[in-house]
Amino acid sequence: MNQPIPYGRQHITDDDIAAVAEVLRGPFLTQGPHIGAFETAFARYIGSPYAVAVANGTAALHLCCIALGVKPGTRVITTPITFSASANCVRYCGGEVFFADIDPNTALLDINMVRELLEQHPRGYFSGIIPVDYAGYPVDLTAFRALADEYGLWLLEDSCHSPGGSFHGGDEQEHRCGDGSLADLAIFSFHPVKHIAAGEGGMITTSNEALYNHLLRLRTHGITNKPGDLTELYPGEPERGGWYMELQELGYNYRLTDMQAALGTSQLNRADVMLARRQEIAQRYDEAFAGTNVITIIPPDSVNHAYHLYVIQVDDRKGLYDFLRTKNIMAQVHYVPVHLMPYYRQFGWKPGDFPNAERYYAHCLSLPMYPTLTDEEQDYVIESVREWAALRLVNA
Ligand SMILES: *Cc1c(COP(=O)(O)O)cnc(C)c1O
Repeated sequence: MNQPIPYGRQHITDDDIAAVAEVLRGPFLTQGPHIGAFETAFARYIGSPYAVAVANGTAALHLCCIALGVKPGTRVITTPITFSASANCVRYCGGEVFFADIDPNTALLDINMVRELLEQHPRGYFSGIIPVDYAGYPVDLTAFRALADEYGLWLLEDSCHSPGGSFHGGDEQEHRCGDGSLADLAIFSFHPVKHIAAGEGGMITTSNEALYNHLLRLRTHGITNKPGDLTELYPGEPERGGWYMELQELGYNYRLTDMQAALGTSQLNRADVMLARRQEIAQRYDEAFAGTNVITIIPPDSVNHAYHLYVIQVDDRKGLYDFLRTKNIMAQVHYVPVHLMPYYRQFGWKPGDFPNAERYYAHCLSLPMYPTLTDEEQDYVIESVREWAALRLVNA
């Protein structure tokens, strides 16, 4: 293959380009009609009552932490196998991040480890949990909701990897990732490598109307001009005109632009087809590696995996990574465990704290996974992995 094959890549059609060009010719580049249209379309796709579009997934996490009341001293639990933004959002608000180990069978936050952590501390010690649908595998939020209710915690689902994913939980119902049925808030990213590309972009979904209204205000500086939300006239205040608005709390400029929203909406139109293609690619990988010493995580039938990533585990991960580079295959590693990042080590986290996560990190490799990956390209990736395995047998 002459062209490098990346691990992930966006897909832009002429329709996408036309949608953005139309915005550029119109009166609004930002805060126009495409924001609301994207929110409505996304909420419908996810099955969530409310959606708030924001500048990126990290901004979404940050605003969620503010809305959930994270402040200095607030303790929040998340997984070490995630992009660091899942933890950083707590730090932006001055809160403390705690980790619990992953379940090696799913690579997701292990609810038993979370329960253990909760039991080791007095009630009220922790405030919330941020489960992550890592790689696109939906976390069983029915179980996490029950645990959170038992301990009076909020749940913030990081669904960046799982738009369109779903699972049947302990209640036998189908839950779509981020649909607002179990987590208090959920967030998504529209970074080009994710399912839906908007350049940059993020979304918060919820079924909680109060949180929804609060997030709308936080997204634009904490300013409101809604008549019902304004304060009483103060004594002697001259009559307020149509210009009047109030800064009611310290918010941010975390708005999405209309150009990005138009691109996001256009991409969303074919989200189901793209997701089906991801699942088809995953199945071809599953079949290719069945019965080999390449370890794959195959979800049960109750799980509709969204496959942001296709991750294999091999004994000599660095060897395979380097070999694939010589073949122009840009496999990647997701992720360096968050607790081992120098920034988090300063809080006392160290190697050995989460053995399952560290073992997973030592062996995991994300193979190319994106809807426009062709069968030929995928066969080349599979053959290359096989070739490496055969080489190793010869050298051994
Ligand atoms: C991409 C990602 C984010 C952050 O999203 P951005 O839009 O890049 O800010 C957060 N969490 C996870 C799990 C992600 O993959």
